[in-house]
Amino acid sequence: MDNSKSPGDNSTPTSPTDNINLGPSANPNAKPTDFDFLKIIGKGSFGKVVLAKYKSDGSFYAVKVLQKKFILKKKEQNHIMAERNVLLKNVKHPFLVGLHYSFQTKEKLYFVLDYVNGGELFFHLQRERCFCEPRARFYAAEMASAVGYLHSLNIIYRDLKPENILLDCQGHIVLTDFGLCKEGMEPEETTSTFCGTPEPPFYSRDVSQMYDNILHKPLHIQGTKTIAACDILQGLLHKDQKKRLGAKTDFLEIKNHVFFSPINWDDLYHKRITPPFDPKVAGPADLRHFDPQFTQEAVSSSIIRTPDLSASSSSATDAFLGFSYAPNDEN
Ligand code: AMP
Repeated sequence: MDNSKSPGDNSTPTSPTDNINLGPSANPNAKPTDFDFLKIIGKGSFGKVVLAKYKSDGSFYAVKVLQKKFILKKKEQNHIMAERNVLLKNVKHPFLVGLHYSFQTKEKLYFVLDYVNGGELFFHLQRERCFCEPRARFYAAEMASAVGYLHSLNIIYRDLKPENILLDCQGHIVLTDFGLCKEGMEPEETTSTFCGTPEPPFYSRDVSQMYDNILHKPLHIQGTKTIAACDILQGLLHKDQKKRLGAKTDFLEIKNHVFFSPINWDDLYHKRITPPFDPKVAGPADLRHFDPQFTQEAVSSSIIRTPDLSASSSSATDAFLGFSYAPNDEN
C-alpha cells in the first residue's frame, strides 16, 4: 500500500487511504428512488445526463450520473470535485447551470441540476452552419458575463466550446460541465496544465500539426465580418498571452470592446434582452433539441435503484466522502 503519493499522481487508488476526503457527508437522505428517471439526454466523459422528475413535487431536473469506477483515477476525481465545488459556488449566476444538490450510492455519483432543454449551441450551430453577427454577439456576451463572474471568484473555466453551452427554453445560454475548471486562481496567475479541446479554429487531422497551428499559424478569418468582429477575434486569439484581449483587466476589456458596444450589460445580466432565437420548446417533455441517439436509449436500472450503502464500505464509496450536498435555501 502506497500512501505517499504526490498531489499530481493519477494512478488508480488501491485502498481508501489513497482517496480524497472532503469532510463529513452533508446530505445522506437523497436517493435515486426519489426520482422517476425518464430519458437519457446527454453523455459526458464519465457518465450520463438523465431527465428526471422529482416524485414528491413533479419538478424536472437534469441528473448527471457518474460511475465511480470510471473516475477512480486521482486526476479524474479532482475533475469531479472541481465540478462539484464550482457548481456549489455558482448557483446564483443567470448563465451558469445551477446545482440543487448531489448525492451518492455505492457505485454512482448524482448531480441534480437545472434542466435546460433548448439544446446545445453545438447542435444549433451545426444545423445553421454559422450565426449572424448580432446572434453571435448575444451568445458571446452572455458567455463572457458567465466567465467573467467565474473569474471574479478566481475560477477559470478552461473548456469553452459549443458542446458545453446549452440554450434554455427562452434561448439564453447556460454554461455546463465544470469538470476542467480550476479554482484559486489569482488575477495575475497562470496555469500550465495541458487541457481543453484543441479543434477550432486551427484544426488539422494531424494532431501534432494542429498543436503547431495553434502555436504558430496566423489566424485566418473566413467569410465576411465587420472590423469589430475581426478585431475581437484577433484579440482573443493572440498568440502572446500577455497581449491577448483580457490579459490586463480581464472581463472589463471584453465588455468595453467595440464589438460589444450594442450590448447593455445590465440588461443582459437581468435577461431583459430578448434572445435572437427562440428554441420553441413546448414544455419539459419536449425533447426535440436532444439527440435521438440518447433519448431513444433505455435508462438502465442501475441508475434508478438505491443500493444499500451501509452494508459494506468500498474504496469507491470512501473516495467520494463529503460529496453529498444540499443547500439550506433550496427553493
Ligand atoms: P456533460 O457531462 O456536462 O458534458 O454533459 C453531457 C451532455 O448532457 C451535454 O453536452 C448536454 O447535452 C447534456 N446536459 C448536461 N447538463 C445538462 C442540463 N443541466 N440540462 C440538460 N442537458 C444537459
